[in-house]
Amino acid sequence: MPVKFSRPEELEPIERASRDEISALQLQRLQWSVRHTYDNVAPYRKKCEEQGVHPDDLKTLADLAKFPFTTKYDLRDNYPFGLLAVPRQRLARLHASSGTTGKPVVVGYTLQDLDHWANLVARSLRAAGVRAGDMVHNAYGYGMFTGGLGAHYGIERAGCVVVPMSGGQTEKQVQQIMDFKPDAIMVTPSYSLVIAEEFERLGIKPEEISLKVGIFGAEPWGEGMRGEIEAKLGIDAIDIYGLTEVMGPGVANECIETKDGPVIWEDHFYPEIIDPETGEVLPDGEEGELVFTSLTKEAFPVIRYRTRDLTRLLPPTARAFRRMGKITGRSDDMLIIRGVNVFPTQIEEQILRDKRLAGNYQIVVTRDGHLDNLEVRCEVQHEISGKLGPAEIQTIGKELQQRIKTIIGVSTRVTVMEFDSIPRTQVGKARRVLDERPKQN
Ligand code: ADP
Repeated sequence: MPVKFSRPEELEPIERASRDEISALQLQRLQWSVRHTYDNVAPYRKKCEEQGVHPDDLKTLADLAKFPFTTKYDLRDNYPFGLLAVPRQRLARLHASSGTTGKPVVVGYTLQDLDHWANLVARSLRAAGVRAGDMVHNAYGYGMFTGGLGAHYGIERAGCVVVPMSGGQTEKQVQQIMDFKPDAIMVTPSYSLVIAEEFERLGIKPEEISLKVGIFGAEPWGEGMRGEIEAKLGIDAIDIYGLTEVMGPGVANECIETKDGPVIWEDHFYPEIIDPETGEVLPDGEEGELVFTSLTKEAFPVIRYRTRDLTRLLPPTARAFRRMGKITGRSDDMLIIRGVNVFPTQIEEQILRDKRLAGNYQIVVTRDGHLDNLEVRCEVQHEISGKLGPAEIQTIGKELQQRIKTIIGVSTRVTVMEFDSIPRTQVGKARRVLDERPKQN
């Protein structure tokens, strides 16, 4: 089906190019990137030699499947600078992953890498409906985390006014939004709810908030959460995806006209979906692990980087590039409860199907003998908090427990609490799972 662009004159030519043009550009850039990595990153060259492949073997895009993967272990084993493809003196900036799943990894950027990054975040903002002259409140954390500075320079590049607020100080966030009247906000979905709650606490209604659009990423969030954020802030909520190892935010971004999953900026990143067990490349549409190869990065190129994020590749809609489905979760986030695979986002979806429940929740895993137990802690919405009797609270809990059992297939204990009982994450990513099981040796 031909792609229909809603405002083609506002797009970069490559965003509306034909598939053949995109593939030709990808192949040319891929050949450069693989050779650049092979020539300048000794550990990756060694892997290629062990696997008996050479950059000359890359004659078509499909030939990439012959090349070795890069994993988080490669980054950790070569910490801090072993995978850089340029001398340290050519770097312009360092960043590190937020370390959600262990020891942080460090990445570097040349000036050209930073220039591409800013352009891609600016393109992401335009996809989200933000235009030059708009003011953007940036509540992603500044520092080693790629979120804050990555968004910052993209906002400037888009010709917008950046409010470099960073995370935390929720009262001040709200005050500034009321005073400065920004058009857009960039923040993690979980922290956007904390900000929304502060508005609620002050009795400020969604229609009194100037924000029109929010660009949310850095952690998984489902359609239920989208509805919750949109209703509470009176905005369109758009998904931005990225990761430190590949660049930072802006590897992919959703378009406001379709809201059907982030469009992968395929002129800079080549995506594959693989079977996480066998490493085999899967056809578009099938769910598996997302793998990225950078096409233009100088300082920290990655060839077939295994993100551990689980999703699907979807056909183009609002842009010429393919999209990714919403991230179900990271393979490391997956809980195996009595033999059933459970992702926190699945629980989130079931909680938010009940309009009486708020979006902040926590999952606690404990072990009783040999059996894992799951407790879901959630809260009632602010406006009904303190007004429900114990019987009603119990019914809400029972209904949620049944939905989780029927749809996800696990037995849980559900604890429904008053509003604001679960600790909020002010800076960084929400900690949804408390794993209290004894550590295995
Ligand atoms: P860390 O790996 O320490 O969390 P990053 O800040 O680089 O460090 O996080 C990147 C990861 O965040 C991605 O691999 C993905 O799991 C998650 N992520 C980023 N954006 C999104 C998004 N829009 N939806 C779901 N998950 C996301």
